[in-house]
Amino acid sequence: MTPLPAPARAEIVVDLGAIRHNVRRLRELAGVAMMTVVKADGYGHGLAEAAGAAREAGAEWLGVATIDEALALRAAGDTGRILCWLTVPSEDLAPVVAADIDVTAYTLAELDAIRAAVADAGRPARLQLKIDTGLSRGGAPMDAWPDLVAAARRGEQDGAWTVTGIWSHLAASDEPDHPANDAQEAVFHEALAIAATAGLRPEVRHLANSAAAILRPSSRFDLVRVGIASYGLDPAPGHTPDLGLRPAMTARATLALSKPLAAGASVSYGHIWTADRATTVGLVPVGYADGVPRHASNVAEVQVAGRRRPIRGRICMDQFVVDLDGELPAPGADVVLFGDGGHGEPTAQDWAEAADTISYEIVSRIGGRMTRRYVDSSPRFREDHES
Ligand SMILES: *Cc1c(COP(=O)(O)O)cnc(C)c1O
Repeated sequence: MTPLPAPARAEIVVDLGAIRHNVRRLRELAGVAMMTVVKADGYGHGLAEAAGAAREAGAEWLGVATIDEALALRAAGDTGRILCWLTVPSEDLAPVVAADIDVTAYTLAELDAIRAAVADAGRPARLQLKIDTGLSRGGAPMDAWPDLVAAARRGEQDGAWTVTGIWSHLAASDEPDHPANDAQEAVFHEALAIAATAGLRPEVRHLANSAAAILRPSSRFDLVRVGIASYGLDPAPGHTPDLGLRPAMTARATLALSKPLAAGASVSYGHIWTADRATTVGLVPVGYADGVPRHASNVAEVQVAGRRRPIRGRICMDQFVVDLDGELPAPGADVVLFGDGGHGEPTAQDWAEAADTISYEIVSRIGGRMTRRYVDSSPRFREDHES
């Protein structure tokens, strides 16, 4: 018998079957084209792997923030539609145009840069325009929109590019009753009308992220840009109906040490926790340098050898301590920081609440020295039929 490999000191385990399941489910629900957002290393799940799973589940588009991310997808062999939306003037856009990636412009200066890249690449660009409907982050303000649209139309007529999309982004889609949702959608309709009058006929008009794609059918237009829900996490805790999405990421470690602790002893830097009774403690070999939020010190829980255990004292750079309540599981025991919650372990959402943040930050920051491993809970359709 081949011995099983020793469990890693600390690792992230990603279930690609869960990502495929979630993308299929969300695409079916939205009923329009699906853009799976894989920026920030696939929200910590791995850029190329998350992208591959999304494509297998039918995602027509992939969305990323930066040029580097878009080019990395091409380098990994992805040949489908990709949109990127955050560039700075020093970046060379020619490789993006050459790689047939859709780029986003917010300003006339960006149109000039894209025009130069088109000359260098020797082929027309695929261009999308972003209107700022009220997030007041990226995008053209309404005042500048008619000029941007007119310049984009001229570039289309002289063969510099095709305007493939017009889009915007919501500020409060995780609060379905927030007045910004209606207001932004109304401004988006206005912007689309101005573009249509200027002669633009974009292939895709899009506004919705995960929360809007799920909770706000009127925001779906031709395409939805779904990030967090693809990874099985809830984009709008307290509002999202149960869609059967499955968290794809498990963060686990191997217990380094367990030992008794005397009543009155204090734990970790600053001694912010003191044992009020004799107990036992365990040492978990990951810390804030691995993306475990220090804000969850003394608050979050993990699962050790199948049982929930509270973190005691401060989370350090490389390690933290848990209360084992008198038990002494042997070093080498399995520690689950978070997973899909199906076996009593905490979820990334639980960690988000403990650290006063959102699950997006938990999964996109966890990593550091942890290794990543892929599993597949549901074999692909084709393999089902080959075996
Ligand atoms: C990150 C991002 C998304 C995805 O948002 P989720 O809430 O994760 O679905 C969509 N659109 C833009 C512009 C983004 O930056």
